[in-house]
Amino acid sequence: MRKLLIALAALGAGVCLFLAAALALELLEPEPAPVLPEPALAEAVAEVPARAGLEARETAPEVLETARRLLEGRVRETGCGPYRLLTDVTDPTLIEACGRLASALDGALVERYGLKPVGEPRGTVVLFGRRADFRAFAEADGRVRQGYAGYSSGVRGYVALCADGPERDELLRTLAHELTHLALRRSLGEGLPPWLSEGLADGIGDTATAGGFIPLEGWKGVEGPARRLQGIYSTGREPDLEKLVGHDRSSFDRGTASVDYEASALLVRYLLAEPGRAARFRAYLAALASGDKSSVQGLRQALGVTWQELDHSFGSWVAAGPDRPVTAS
Ligand SMILES: [Zn+2]
Repeated sequence: MRKLLIALAALGAGVCLFLAAALALELLEPEPAPVLPEPALAEAVAEVPARAGLEARETAPEVLETARRLLEGRVRETGCGPYRLLTDVTDPTLIEACGRLASALDGALVERYGLKPVGEPRGTVVLFGRRADFRAFAEADGRVRQGYAGYSSGVRGYVALCADGPERDELLRTLAHELTHLALRRSLGEGLPPWLSEGLADGIGDTATAGGFIPLEGWKGVEGPARRLQGIYSTGREPDLEKLVGHDRSSFDRGTASVDYEASALLVRYLLAEPGRAARFRAYLAALASGDKSSVQGLRQALGVTWQELDHSFGSWVAAGPDRPVTAS
């Protein structure tokens, strides 16, 4: 899922954070993953059988029934790229942008993470023009989504979004974030640790624009959360990445001061910001796609650093801000 607004974090949502520096990280682990040049890596990863990936599910009939009932008299059933779109929103530029982003999403996963989703994208986007309908839909689904602009269910094959509130660009970022969750299920299966699921979803979602996806560079598209995280670290709170990556859904993003979402988004960017580190991270993702289980220590070993080094490096990277040139880690 994805927060509607940073300010709404105070309502009880959660977030994650991470930092990195240009310090030369000494490799203490004897088993670092091989560092491949990026193009070679992308090819190698694409050939890894995605044993963990699960075929997309058809949308559960009761989900469609509830959406059609709530939108009765106003619903339009059309398409958003390869997905079915149910909506009472009539803005044609929004519908066009929806299709553009949804069609490009699988390619973005390959290009950015080296993850190739299995099968074809399938499912439904339910886009509500009225907040009351979105709330009623979420409640009928057994969910309470205070402060969220959207959520997804890979198992039931849909994404639900509220267009009442966020500006168009923010809505498109949320759409791409939620669709990425569906695509991640097709790449890595279910039960991903929340930092990884949310961080990877933001790594695509935060780069969504009406014209398509912009490159994942620096803080582009994630300026607000990054500044929030930077501000928190500048007051003396240290990154604790081992804790962040160890959270399950019950402990992730708990409490009004949580920056678990922000830290997760920035950690993924940090991990991809420098070629050597990016190769290690993508190799870790490839291992997960091939069936390895995610684990806190598995990630650390794949990155070849200690938690202390990673905290320090990440903290320095966040502190340096968006304009810092990419250098060796
Ligand atoms: Zn999410």
